[in-house]
Amino acid sequence: MPNPIYNITPFTLLDYPDKTACIIWFAGCNMKCPYCYNPEIVLGKGKISFSDSLTFIEKRRNLLDGVVLSGGECTMHHGIEQYAAEIKGMHMLVKIDTNGGHPEKLRALIQRNLVDYVALDFKSLSSGFDKVTKSNLFAQFEESLELLIVSGIPFEVRTTVHSDLLSAHDIQEMTSFLKKKGYKGNYYIQNFVGDTPTLGGMNYSVPLHSEDFAGGDMEIVIRN
Ligand code: SF4
Repeated sequence: MPNPIYNITPFTLLDYPDKTACIIWFAGCNMKCPYCYNPEIVLGKGKISFSDSLTFIEKRRNLLDGVVLSGGECTMHHGIEQYAAEIKGMHMLVKIDTNGGHPEKLRALIQRNLVDYVALDFKSLSSGFDKVTKSNLFAQFEESLELLIVSGIPFEVRTTVHSDLLSAHDIQEMTSFLKKKGYKGNYYIQNFVGDTPTLGGMNYSVPLHSEDFAGGDMEIVIRN
């Protein structure tokens, strides 16, 4: 099996709410969002095996609360359940960053109590999904959202906004969609920041501001 992991960030205070963690960056992705900040991870090959990364995590287990499985798309990888089980076996928390493209993997992780927190990317409504992600995985995203809503697992929904792809009106429609589905958490908006190379060469974007969403009935939090 090719190595699944592109890189490891040994320590973060920013990527797991209120926890110290390391980040495991999984190589490859089932989407190709043109604004993606991580083209080298999405297009590159893994360099680190499950086993070597677990050795690293084991050495850090007393220093960290948890492990963030990110990428790329971590749920694409065979063996992700066993990998999460090994981390849970070290009595560490597991957070999954996912685009929702593999609901069957997410379901299996939830059913086996192998995930403690999920950050789910909401790329677009179905009408714009192909443009934003270069994929046809909206139905899979929707299934992931629905299963997280009924799971009781703490999770957040977040959207990266590039003004060439999504408008404030689109975000309002996406907010209505979330509300209809029964999502009750905050909705996090991350304005695209063009300070690194991107997958589709996208750069300058007009940022959205909290005033663009005043008076709505869901808490929309701008993260930058
Ligand atoms: S931004 Fe898109 S292409 Fe990049 S890792 Fe996330 S889902 Fe994959």
